[in-house]
Amino acid sequence: MNGQYAIAIDGPSGAGKSSLARRCASRFGFLYVDTGAIYRTVGLAAFRRGIDRRDEAAVSAMLPELEIRMAYNEQGEQRMYLNGEDVSAAIRMPEISLCASDVSALPAVRAYLLEMQRKMAREHNVIMDGRDIGTVVLPDAELKIFLTASAEARAERRLKELAAKGVEADFASVLRDIRYRDEQDSSRAAAPLRPARDSVTVDTTEIDFAGSEELLCRLIREKLGVEEIG
Ligand code: C5P
Repeated sequence: MNGQYAIAIDGPSGAGKSSLARRCASRFGFLYVDTGAIYRTVGLAAFRRGIDRRDEAAVSAMLPELEIRMAYNEQGEQRMYLNGEDVSAAIRMPEISLCASDVSALPAVRAYLLEMQRKMAREHNVIMDGRDIGTVVLPDAELKIFLTASAEARAERRLKELAAKGVEADFASVLRDIRYRDEQDSSRAAAPLRPARDSVTVDTTEIDFAGSEELLCRLIREKLGVEEIG
């Protein structure tokens, strides 16, 4: 698989980007790249070291000590490794979401991770999700989708996701975290979350998962002229 096609999916947390991107990627035989997981890995490293995650000098000083690697297992799942340790489960803890949002506001962190993301797109046909994929990472992507939903709908979904993983959380605190991240991701100076000029906005507040999946797959077929595999 070469990097002939790139699809960028951006949007706020909990809009369903990762589940939808994963499904669409498997239907078209593309590689799904979850860029949030990379920011989470840096956030986890800062958290474990007790570094102030908003202190750019301190976080920058930590970066050369990190060996961040992304790999895919036999099931095609993306795994994250931090200095050789599989941290794929650890980066999903709710407190790490906030750490990721904090460190991702730092230009030094964004610059450090840029090439890693672009390399994936050069080597594979990708569906890459994040916050600035269509605007910064892959400005020439063949299709850019801005996936969104109301904060309440997103909190509801995130709660279910966490429950399925056995992580206990309450609606109010999940909603508060989502609003905090929305505000921080949209208002930061470095690569703020916003739709690319040439993106298609898909609001899934009133559409269920299956409906959203069909909508996205139709956009992919129409825009790229590709067919589903198998
Ligand atoms: O997508 P996910 O919720 O896992 O991302 C965690 C955090 O990483 C987000 O809140 C956002 O601040 C940051 N992020 C980013 N740019 C990306 C992907 C994630 O700033 N491309």
